[in-house]
Amino acid sequence: MERRKVTFKLYPNATQAERLMGWIRLHCELYNAALEERIDAYRKAGKSISYYDQQNVLPEIKAARPEFVKLGSHALQQTLRKLDLAFQAFFRRVKAGQTPGFPRFKASKRFSGFGYPDPAGWKLVQNGKRGATIRLGSGKDAMSIRARGQHRFGDGAKPNDLTIARRNGEWFASVTLRVSEDSCARARTGDDHRGVDFGLNDWATFDNGEAIANPRFTRNEMPRMADLQRQQARKKRGSVRYTRLGKQAAKLHERIGNLRREFLHTATARLVASCAVIATEELKVNNMSRSAKGTQDKPGRRVKQKAGLNREILSAGLSMAHNMLAYKAVEAGTRLHVSNTRQLKPSQRCSRCWEIVPKRLAQRVHECPHCGLTMQRDQNSASVVLIDAHTPGTGVAARPKPLARQRAKSKPETRETPATASQDA
Ligand SMILES: [Zn+2]
Repeated sequence: MERRKVTFKLYPNATQAERLMGWIRLHCELYNAALEERIDAYRKAGKSISYYDQQNVLPEIKAARPEFVKLGSHALQQTLRKLDLAFQAFFRRVKAGQTPGFPRFKASKRFSGFGYPDPAGWKLVQNGKRGATIRLGSGKDAMSIRARGQHRFGDGAKPNDLTIARRNGEWFASVTLRVSEDSCARARTGDDHRGVDFGLNDWATFDNGEAIANPRFTRNEMPRMADLQRQQARKKRGSVRYTRLGKQAAKLHERIGNLRREFLHTATARLVASCAVIATEELKVNNMSRSAKGTQDKPGRRVKQKAGLNREILSAGLSMAHNMLAYKAVEAGTRLHVSNTRQLKPSQRCSRCWEIVPKRLAQRVHECPHCGLTMQRDQNSASVVLIDAHTPGTGVAARPKPLARQRAKSKPETRETPATASQDA
């Protein structure tokens, strides 16, 4: 059994949205009360309260405040666990000699949502091409909320847990499914062997000289983002216009994230489907940014900020791409070879004679003084890693990175996969 996480956008009607907000307020109240209890107990008696101490008081709370009953006991426990995790993270960082912030009281406006740790108290219903429905609660408090899209794992997929979240005024349901290995298998349409170099000029360059350009959002949306932030910086903090611009920036941030994820899912899926072997190198974390400096005649403006934004967004995309490639390769039975960058030095090595040819980042062409090979820099790197992939005993393990927040070693990994829009299915 594998685990896959699918996120659906929810379309609650006005009554449902109102009620969901009410539930969030209650969860938030519980969170803050539990935090206060921990602080009080420590101040007054020097005692620390554990998660289990707090869980055992839940029945009393429900007796005194019946409005908590409809939230479901497991969902309430989940919120207490959320607080417990915050404390664990706090103490772990203290122990490590860092200076973390103490867990904070939260305003219900900023409380992101709540979750059900197991299949009790909710249900995911897939309605074929008409999308899905999430059912929450029971009795007269039950809600059937419309959701967009559907997952690709068929009827055999067993829902495991659910998180309801509110972001920028929109609602989302993340469902973890337990699925059989067969149902996550991907069809492969080709048996190519491809070396690929991921970069910032082109998103990907292949050993045969083909390339995939960076998607349009890097040209269109990112300058707009910088513009919004610039405008906001000129407004008075806390003013109506400042807040409005902040909201616009948050929406755009989310939009860029969505576009990037969609692009990466599509591109990596296509790549994996057509290849029996894909070779690439380990992720380069530093020194990667498209220059915003411009040229001497036409110098760029706000160079530092632009470089930072580019670097942040594009390099986030690269690690995401690596990770998607790793798990999709497993699903398609494609071999993903990851070269050891420091040993191999793909960008400095000649793909014909294997000599090291040092070059600076700005040098976009590989010209070998030893054998005379002239090739575009990224294409040469891609060719080098492909040769490395065909050499036995090379490379580092290409394992999908475990997801954050899943620290327990015994647990299987959970992969985020997109819900396909109903009209495409
Ligand atoms: Zn050479």
